Amino acid sequence: MKPITANFRTKAAETLEDQQIQQSIEHVYTGFFKGRLNAAADTNNWEELRTKGKAIKDHTIANLDYYLSQLADNVEKNGGNVFFADDAEEARQHIIDIAHKRNIKTVIKSKSMVSEEMGLAEAMNKEGFETIETDLGEYIIQLANETPYHLIAPAVHKSRSDVAKLLDDNFSDSEPIPDATELTMMAREKLRGVFARADMSVTGANFAVAESGSIALVTNEGNGRMSTTVPRVHVAVMGLEKIVPSIQDLSTMLRILIRSATGQRISTYVTMVNGKRTVDEEEGPEEFHLVIMNNGRLKLLEDEHSREALNCIRCGACLNACPVYRKVGGHAYGWVYPGPIGAIVSPVLTGLKDANNLPNASSLCGACHDACPVKINIPRMLLELRYRTAEGSTDPQERTSSAKERGVWKAWRMGMMGRSRFDLGARLVATALRPFTRKGWLKKAPPPISGWTSTRDFPAVASKSLRSRLSNRLRRVK
Ligand code: SF4
Repeated sequence: MKPITANFRTKAAETLEDQQIQQSIEHVYTGFFKGRLNAAADTNNWEELRTKGKAIKDHTIANLDYYLSQLADNVEKNGGNVFFADDAEEARQHIIDIAHKRNIKTVIKSKSMVSEEMGLAEAMNKEGFETIETDLGEYIIQLANETPYHLIAPAVHKSRSDVAKLLDDNFSDSEPIPDATELTMMAREKLRGVFARADMSVTGANFAVAESGSIALVTNEGNGRMSTTVPRVHVAVMGLEKIVPSIQDLSTMLRILIRSATGQRISTYVTMVNGKRTVDEEEGPEEFHLVIMNNGRLKLLEDEHSREALNCIRCGACLNACPVYRKVGGHAYGWVYPGPIGAIVSPVLTGLKDANNLPNASSLCGACHDACPVKINIPRMLLELRYRTAEGSTDPQERTSSAKERGVWKAWRMGMMGRSRFDLGARLVATALRPFTRKGWLKKAPPPISGWTSTRDFPAVASKSLRSRLSNRLRRVK
């Protein structure tokens, strides 16, 4: 998928105007956000679990090479194959090669953000493989030819009638069916046929366990379990950060992931995959492949200010908590990862030049930090990225502020560093802005500060500072 992060403002404005989407995405607050709060309140040791989760991720990321090599050894001991892909293209090509070599016709996919990074379904369809998403939300998105809107609810922006129309356009001759149960049954019936004829599956991995070489999949629809047992070839794809050292650590991570994602204590299915079918097993694939993808993650690892983003377990809680995401929606972010975590990951992975609007898509209220089950300090990282786009980056391509803008801020800084300079500066600015001021408000500031008043009024700069007003008053009192 080609990142189009540069269109943030336009896409955000379109979503703000779309009443249907505004109504549909309310669910991220009324459903997921409130569900997480209730689940946390019902868990006695919630804060302890979050602290433990953070410690597990900090430790794993600090020792990533050790745990990745342990994972690879154990997957191979279990009879699986491991491939380290440096980027999305390498990963995609490897999976396509496996499919060609095994004479595959139908590929089923279960939800995976890493496969979205690869644009895998589209590429495999182009290669002539019938490639179908099996998570209901992803299936809807695939029929609509769109990208996921949310980390765990890809079709959250679609209304029931949108879904009815989509299914009707694709499969039925009758009128669109308005009933949600009937719609689900219709999709289920279609997908059952696909499961039956699939000869290869591609799934994600919510976690990979280094000590056992297993992967864990969390789903509510059972499609993950069907995908890992029915087809003869199973390929699991993961980012290199999706690793935990032990089964015990997995148990902690599952508890915080599921509660933070949907507010459930446990999801309907938690599937553990230990590789291909063994001789005494009746079900399972004949072949198991694990594709571990870098695709810019090592850049995050090297960057001490953004490294913490590798702790993310993709629960989506920061999206649900974010007042900006809840209004501008997922497509405004332009790439696979939306919301507060996307505003950090996308600029680092796809380049700050195109994604320079994303770190500004935040009120810095801190709700994402409070919501994050592994306590990722998202506001701190957003501020660092803002600093880089403004003046801190050594790469001129990334430093997006104009020389004029930097000149204004330099003058501001100088003015703020001395009392007499501040007073003189305030008087000069108040005089310069007087022609633009009406009844105490600045409604249309001139360039280069015009952006400040393009969507809101700004209080006029006072002609006298508070300090000089107070000393005048004190003088009068005496
Ligand atoms: S940053 Fe935290 S809250 Fe957001 S998706 Fe990742 S783990 Fe969840």
